[in-house]
Amino acid sequence: VSVGAKFSDNRVIKSKAANLIIPNQLIPDYIWQDLGKWHDKTAVVCFETGKSYTFNEVYLKCRNLAGSLQRKFSLEKGDTVAVILPNVVDFPVAFLGAIQAGLVVTTVNPLHNADEMARQLSDSGAKIIFTVRDILTVVNTAMSILGEKIPTVIAEAQPGDCSPQGCVKMSELCDNSNNNGNAFPEGSPDDVAILPYSSGTTGFPKGVQLTHRNVVSNLYQMSSPDFIVNLKTEGSFQDVIPVFLPLFHIYGMVGIFLNFFAQGCKLVMIPNFIGSQFIKLLQYYQPTLLFAVPPMIVVVLNNPKIKVDDLKSVRTIISAAAPLGSLSVEEFNDKSSGKITLLQMYGMTETSPLTLMQTPKLANGTKIGGSGFLIPNTEAQIIPQTSAQSGELLVRGPQIMKGYHNNPEATRDAILQDGWLRTGDICYYDEHQHFFITDRLKELIKVKGFQVAPAELEEILMSHSAVVDAAVVGIPHPVHGEAPKAFIVVKKGQSVNTDHVKEFVAAKVSSYKRLVGGVVVTEKIPRNCAGKILRNELKNM
Ligand code: AMP
Repeated sequence: VSVGAKFSDNRVIKSKAANLIIPNQLIPDYIWQDLGKWHDKTAVVCFETGKSYTFNEVYLKCRNLAGSLQRKFSLEKGDTVAVILPNVVDFPVAFLGAIQAGLVVTTVNPLHNADEMARQLSDSGAKIIFTVRDILTVVNTAMSILGEKIPTVIAEAQPGDCSPQGCVKMSELCDNSNNNGNAFPEGSPDDVAILPYSSGTTGFPKGVQLTHRNVVSNLYQMSSPDFIVNLKTEGSFQDVIPVFLPLFHIYGMVGIFLNFFAQGCKLVMIPNFIGSQFIKLLQYYQPTLLFAVPPMIVVVLNNPKIKVDDLKSVRTIISAAAPLGSLSVEEFNDKSSGKITLLQMYGMTETSPLTLMQTPKLANGTKIGGSGFLIPNTEAQIIPQTSAQSGELLVRGPQIMKGYHNNPEATRDAILQDGWLRTGDICYYDEHQHFFITDRLKELIKVKGFQVAPAELEEILMSHSAVVDAAVVGIPHPVHGEAPKAFIVVKKGQSVNTDHVKEFVAAKVSSYKRLVGGVVVTEKIPRNCAGKILRNELKNM
């Protein structure tokens, strides 16, 4: 591949696509603008229970929920709602209903343990929680850690169920048609609407403030003529998209749910994805589009039970959230005999999420191992690193977050002068302006597409009585993409069993954060003169 420019001139690279005029809309305005076209079609159906809602049902439930939230709880415009839900049919209702009420939604990983949950509940200042019965014990423990009782709404309750003590059933808030409340002043596109968490380039997870304008812009950018994924939803046909990627993460939330809900697709909600059910999913629902993270593509490749014929309804597969190796793309194209278009996208929570996308609609828009072109209204700069050929990607556009919640210092570090966001990713682009992400400068580790912040694991390691210093890095893992590996320095005169250290950490974190890459005892953690861990040295050790 020949590289498009020498980066020493810090040239601004502009999207090749025509600029879009983005309307001044709130998220609900965007979502409901075409409701009339598919109001009586199924909007969401649960893969496990078969429970489903039409678009009109979701619309009415959201409206009623928004009214109930305003009237029944002492909430004010801009207060935060924590949505701690797996992929269930009530997720869209809780999410959109709260936003319609003028509240800010922070989405929490439902797999979090109580400590992890407590940290986000406290940092985001959540005033109300939406969860399901199965997670309630963890949620209650998180509240005891905080020493605070936050009003809790239970989604997915069965009709005859009574509410757990101190909780309200979501159905009671959604099915009351007297709730046309609009007590809060009209929102502005520049109000923060969602607050997902990301560790960014360094440190602990932080609340990413995404405004209505950020999200609506990204939705228009994704569906601009050169990049839109062709759908067939028209007349009686409806595109079907299984949602196995978690909705709490920006990719599932905006890239799949908001994007395709607004385009009238049927979303099949999968609360617990079990690989062995994949064939049943394909056969029963005949999905037309699949969204995956790279480890899932590897599963499809390596599972001899999944035949090309099983994938016959699938026209396009999109991979994002972590790098997809060239080898996997080649093997996939072989297995599918080129009948399925495999596209890669690149983005991050801080960019709502999309900035780069492959597209078969433009010449040179799909290159093996590439992440595609800049989407409309998006610019890039590449800041040279050690090699003249590649450097850190900076991006600018209407989808860049407002900032990190309550963290002006981290915001200043992330968003440079004139609105350039540091991505912490290393890339180059070729003569066609097709971008290739080659490495990560930032600390972040991505396990199966999930974020793992080394700082979090290092703090836990440092709390071990025998550890004086610790550092965690990501190492390649054949199935998960990456795995966290720890280096520890042990106190003088003490010894540790590394398996015990692994267990010590495992007991305190969600399962995907475990030290699957191992624990190594070392003499010293390499640091620069400012005390910053030299992670590349550790990776090379
Ligand atoms: P998140 O905020 O969890 O979506 O994580 C964003 C990070 O995931 C990016 O900064 C990249 O490091 C990584 N990432 C996302 N998409 C890709 C991709 N297509 N190729 C390589 N890395 C990616």
